Amino acid sequence: MTGCGRLCSAIVYCSLVKPFYIFNTLSRNVEQFRPGHPPTVTYYSCGPTVYLPQHLGNMRAYVFVDTLKRALRFNGFQVHHVMNITDVGHMTSDADGGEDKIEKTARAEHKTPQEVADFYIAQFKRDCARLNIELPQPPMLCRATDHIGDMIDLIKRILDRGLAYVTPSGVYFDVEKWRGPSQLGRLSRQSLAEQDAGQRLEHSPDKKSPHDFALWVLNQPNHLMQWDSPWGRGYPGWHIECSAMSMKYLGPTLDIHSGGLDHIPVHHENEIAQSEAATGRPFVRYFVHNAFLVGMEGVKISKSAGKFPVLDDLTDEGLNPLAFRLLCFGAKYRSELAFSLEAVRAAQRNLDYLLEFVRNLGGEAVDTVDDSGWVSAYAERFHEAINNDLNTPQALACTLEMVAESYRRRDFRVWNTLRRFDTLLGLNLEQFLQQTREAIFPAEILRLRDEREQARRARDFDRADQLRRELEARGYQIRDSKTGSVLMPKRVAP
Ligand SMILES: [Zn+2]
Repeated sequence: MTGCGRLCSAIVYCSLVKPFYIFNTLSRNVEQFRPGHPPTVTYYSCGPTVYLPQHLGNMRAYVFVDTLKRALRFNGFQVHHVMNITDVGHMTSDADGGEDKIEKTARAEHKTPQEVADFYIAQFKRDCARLNIELPQPPMLCRATDHIGDMIDLIKRILDRGLAYVTPSGVYFDVEKWRGPSQLGRLSRQSLAEQDAGQRLEHSPDKKSPHDFALWVLNQPNHLMQWDSPWGRGYPGWHIECSAMSMKYLGPTLDIHSGGLDHIPVHHENEIAQSEAATGRPFVRYFVHNAFLVGMEGVKISKSAGKFPVLDDLTDEGLNPLAFRLLCFGAKYRSELAFSLEAVRAAQRNLDYLLEFVRNLGGEAVDTVDDSGWVSAYAERFHEAINNDLNTPQALACTLEMVAESYRRRDFRVWNTLRRFDTLLGLNLEQFLQQTREAIFPAEILRLRDEREQARRARDFDRADQLRRELEARGYQIRDSKTGSVLMPKRVAP
């Protein structure tokens, strides 16, 4: 990194000089990102509904969430990320009525709703790990059923402010009263009449208006999952969990809230309404929405469309899951991304090209030398690309071009920059380099490394130093870092 000076680290320097821009659905503009309390960023993303496997369209959205988080960290921000897991409450029609999807699967598979949810949560976590998507840790990865009390408290606050009403079939949010004279939705910028055209509204005779949505559902005796509430036994409506859990962990105003484009007119509009109705404060500073993965025919890949590909379909074809991650970088998050096996195979070729480069670096002590001067132009371009509304196609192109130039110049002093790029790309390049080295280091050297590691853990520093000297005498060096010790050859790359 150029120009950092002695006083500040590269990361701090970059966060000072490079503003991060992101498209805010609230303003319909690309805006400079300014969190409420820098360097902390509070970020909530709508998570999975766990009654079916997450298909690749879903996984594209989670790759996007992960990339946004990494981009913020790349810029020196500290991200507090919360993601929900919907294990109750989504109806088959996404309207207020119908059957809960988890219960529907539970009946079909003769399982309890809890067993259905646990099964698909485990599968979701496994697929995220294979795609190198870093999920928040519990309680920040939060299940709706663990937060029923928080939802009830929030509904009480909305009732206290006169923006909801209780009926025999449920507690409803008073949408027309909330929206006021214009009746416009803040995110969708649609009036209620315009919104009607795009959705099928369930009309309950208890509702003042068909636009009102349920905060709490009552008198549905066939529903398996029920909880006591001040209004009677029932279960939450499907928007309230996101408001309750995001504000519980991140406070009343979130810096960023993300989700799929399909959430704009109803789910997110309703989240804003019920959150702000309860707190009287702005709910979200930046609403960020991702576009869909589409099949060859341009059809959105979704659960309701029937057959949809999942990550296992790719691994069954012998493809590396990270090739799908790399495919996602090929389009900007706000553009549709065309899915085909051929497209994943092309992404795999790019991934293999990068891995091959890293494999060639394995025998060199590339960690200990400074990168060559010409590399800084690529570092600059890469940073500009991601700060320009997360332009991953450009960032990826920049990475591949830097590697190509490294070959052309026969100058491989690029590892520190490539490693930093990979904190955003998440292709596990450092891990791969380490594995490559393990494969080429003699067993005796690895044994000395392990012995030294044990001595270090046992705080026997004399012995550890002795082993270090022994390794050095044999032409190897060891560097201790936060994540452990890195073994490398002493010879420096030419
Ligand atoms: Zn949500």
